[in-house]
Amino acid sequence: MTNLAPTPLSERLRSLVDTVQHNERTLRRFQNVELRLIGAQDFASFLDTLFSHLPQQFALAKVVLWLDDRAPILLELLEPGNLHALDYAQLKTSREGGLVAQSLCEDSRPWLGRPGQLDDDARRAFFGAAPTDVPASALLLPLASGTSVSGYLCLGSDDSARFGAGMATDILERFASIVTASLDNVAHRERLKQLGMTDSLTGLANRRYFDERVREELMRAVRYRAPVACLFIDIDGFKRINDSHGHQTGDRALAAVAACMRRQVRLGDTVARYGGEEFAALLQGDRSDALTVAERVRLAVQNLDVRDEYGERIALTVSIGVAARVVAGTPAEAMSLGRTLLDEADRAMYRAKRNGRNRIEAQVDAGD
Ligand code: GH3
Ligand code: MG
Ligand code: MG
Repeated sequence: MTNLAPTPLSERLRSLVDTVQHNERTLRRFQNVELRLIGAQDFASFLDTLFSHLPQQFALAKVVLWLDDRAPILLELLEPGNLHALDYAQLKTSREGGLVAQSLCEDSRPWLGRPGQLDDDARRAFFGAAPTDVPASALLLPLASGTSVSGYLCLGSDDSARFGAGMATDILERFASIVTASLDNVAHRERLKQLGMTDSLTGLANRRYFDERVREELMRAVRYRAPVACLFIDIDGFKRINDSHGHQTGDRALAAVAACMRRQVRLGDTVARYGGEEFAALLQGDRSDALTVAERVRLAVQNLDVRDEYGERIALTVSIGVAARVVAGTPAEAMSLGRTLLDEADRAMYRAKRNGRNRIEAQVDAGD
């Protein structure tokens, strides 16, 4: 028999393993919250993740979000009518609260400590007047992009030792940067909705927005002589999917394909629902970049796991047409190229259909 009495080494190993497991659990919980924030389709579900999901995951007594209602991107989100409709006590915008947070977070660094020890005015301005408003310890994270701070996220605990000076904050700062980017994203989404630029079934941009983006992108491209590419994507045999599984399942499949495509392109690229089961993507890049993205989209859709109401997998594939150009000439010439680019991608897509579907074709004359 081996001697099982704990040795200093085995204790050390155990504590290392414990630490690793603890860190893994923490990171996974963060990842879980982050994915929800990144995927939030509107401001309400963004706030719901912060105010309900985050405290649950991390056993927090309270989460408060302070937003600067003068930050340009947030103006729309924080319209009084909008705020009233949401009615969250933990969402704050008062100037005084912002000044307190700013003075606590020197140089936009996180602040950790006991709010009970702050002076009365400061405590009241940020946390509120009632004793139950004030957590035993708290962490204040600035939401900053570049040099501008658009808000502060406050995590509060009943445990006075939970957040204290000297704690490592690198994971938390990374989390703050994801909250900031997601907030930016959700503000853009809300703005697009207000302008009637999104498709309600898929959450993607609609054709009107896409055509607008093409114009913008061509102006940029002509200035920098940069290549621009366009994908035209059409779901194969979609009529049959509707016919055999019903329109509702068809809708669900459409939304799943849309979300899948969105995941395959870069953040700055635009994906739109161009028509019924047709999508268009505008990419910054040349033809070979576009072909790579197209293949990624084709494979991802082919591997999508969408089930009908009986749990049977629905086979989904797309045909994709690719067109790309280096944009040169006068701005007016560049503008007319927008239509050409779309037509070329559309024609290439029809060629992909004729050549058997679930495939990619590129325009014959690259023009570059
Ligand atoms: P192909 O491979 O040639 O593209 O065949 P297809 O069946 O996909 O093409 P077709 O153009 O014949 O049919 C497109 C179908 O897409 C018909 C239409 O009912 C369906 N569709 C368009 N918009 C929607 C929608 O919003 N929801 C649902 N469920 N179906 C839609
Ligand atoms: Mg079609
Ligand atoms: Mg089709």
